[in-house]
Amino acid sequence: MPDFQVRFFPFKHLNNTIRMREGRVLVRLSDLLEGAPQPVLYAILHILVAKLYRKEIDPGHAARYRRHAGNPSFAAKLHLIRQVRGRKRIEGPDGKHYHLEQIFDDLNQRFFHGLMARPLMTWSGNHSRQSLGHYDPAHNTIVVSRIFDRPNVPRYAIEYLVYHEMLHLRHPVKLRGSRRCVHSREFQQEERLFPQLEEAKSFLKEL
Ligand SMILES: [Zn+2]
Repeated sequence: MPDFQVRFFPFKHLNNTIRMREGRVLVRLSDLLEGAPQPVLYAILHILVAKLYRKEIDPGHAARYRRHAGNPSFAAKLHLIRQVRGRKRIEGPDGKHYHLEQIFDDLNQRFFHGLMARPLMTWSGNHSRQSLGHYDPAHNTIVVSRIFDRPNVPRYAIEYLVYHEMLHLRHPVKLRGSRRCVHSREFQQEERLFPQLEEAKSFLKEL
């Protein structure tokens, strides 16, 4: 039996690959299958190994895998991943003066014990004053308006914007009746922990 190396891989689509290299069998499974029930993983591995050795695929395994991949909740997940990974990222976190990922990491250490998973961080494509910053849950992205990427913008102002969006990540929008409660009481309490809250707010007002 050859050596096997099996890994989950962030493919854009639901891909699973197998190949033989220098006597080792390399398997890459879509990371969408991470957490799939064991019989499903067994089924896909059976299918891949059968393909590699040109053996017949067991119809029971083939059906089990098909059922899992065709399941509506799985399809929804796949659709979301495709949106995120398929999207062209013209912008990025690295500005002329500030690096958004560094700001996120720093705030994460200071306020969240480094426990928050970093979403995609990007500068906006334009110099919008309408939207200074927002968190987009569909794409798990924090977008900050490019007008803040200037030397005359104090670091605390940008930190406040990012901190505010991080709180949106932590406090997902609740529906209260039919009203969306965007900044709940807990949200506002936590926002007050930011030391230069007042300075930041007045800076944003004068912008
Ligand atoms: Zn907000």
